[in-house]
Amino acid sequence: MEENLKIGICLRLLLLQKRNYQNKIKNMKRQKIVAGNWKMNLNFQEGRDLASEIIRSMGPTEVLAILCPPFVHLNHLSVLANGVSNLEIGAQNCHQVASGAYTGEVSASMIKSVGANFVIIGHSERREFFNESDNLLAEKVNVVLQNDLRPIFCCGEKLDIREAGSHEALVGSQLENGLFHLDSEAFSKVVIAYEPVWAIGTGKTASPAQAQEMHQFIRSLIAKKYGSEIAEATTILYGGSCKPDNASEIFSQPDVDGGLIGGASLKAKDFVAILGSFPKQ
Ligand code: PEP
Repeated sequence: MEENLKIGICLRLLLLQKRNYQNKIKNMKRQKIVAGNWKMNLNFQEGRDLASEIIRSMGPTEVLAILCPPFVHLNHLSVLANGVSNLEIGAQNCHQVASGAYTGEVSASMIKSVGANFVIIGHSERREFFNESDNLLAEKVNVVLQNDLRPIFCCGEKLDIREAGSHEALVGSQLENGLFHLDSEAFSKVVIAYEPVWAIGTGKTASPAQAQEMHQFIRSLIAKKYGSEIAEATTILYGGSCKPDNASEIFSQPDVDGGLIGGASLKAKDFVAILGSFPKQ
């Protein structure tokens, strides 16, 4: 009898926990984000000056700005961003294991220890030049989340795949293999960036309709896997030659929640203009 009572209380507690989590997801508004990927650009002084100028010229905003500089900038930029509302710092990569004899690598816990809160995972340049596979990226996603960091998970097809009409299948498999092993609670910390590789650094942007079509498709896959409430709460960014003169049209698409910006994030004026490119609510 006493045993049954204990089991009953445990079940009730589990049910309450589940309901609290579902309510939290339901009340979440989709976060708008503009993240700047500085890639391998800017020395320490240039990076410090760019971040300071961005902070000086950023007005009050509900959009979350994330600066993703090379590792050497992370500590100083985290100090600069401390106390600035809606500004976070992220890394561009991390190693997939916690620590050890991996000369030249940087771990997720090191990134966390200097005050960053995000890590870009699976950028097409890492997939291409460093042979990062979907399985490796799944390991990186895990280590990022284990260290209380949020992954900005990149997916996107090359031109030949788009021309063959296989872009949905490719992006679907990148998500399936890199992210969909996560449980709902872990997945709800993920930001996704759809970046057609043919539009990165080429000046060729996906049309707003092409971006919307892929973002809607990605959201439908999330809904199938995790349910519509989590899908509706997931931030999906567009990346690929996004600039002040095309950002507002892209950001006005209903499933586009912001951008991952390369080239244009290296100029404070452009980055801040992109931050201000969302439709007025
Ligand atoms: C990127 O590298 O993530 C990117 C979107 O670059 P660009 O904006 O320069 O195309």
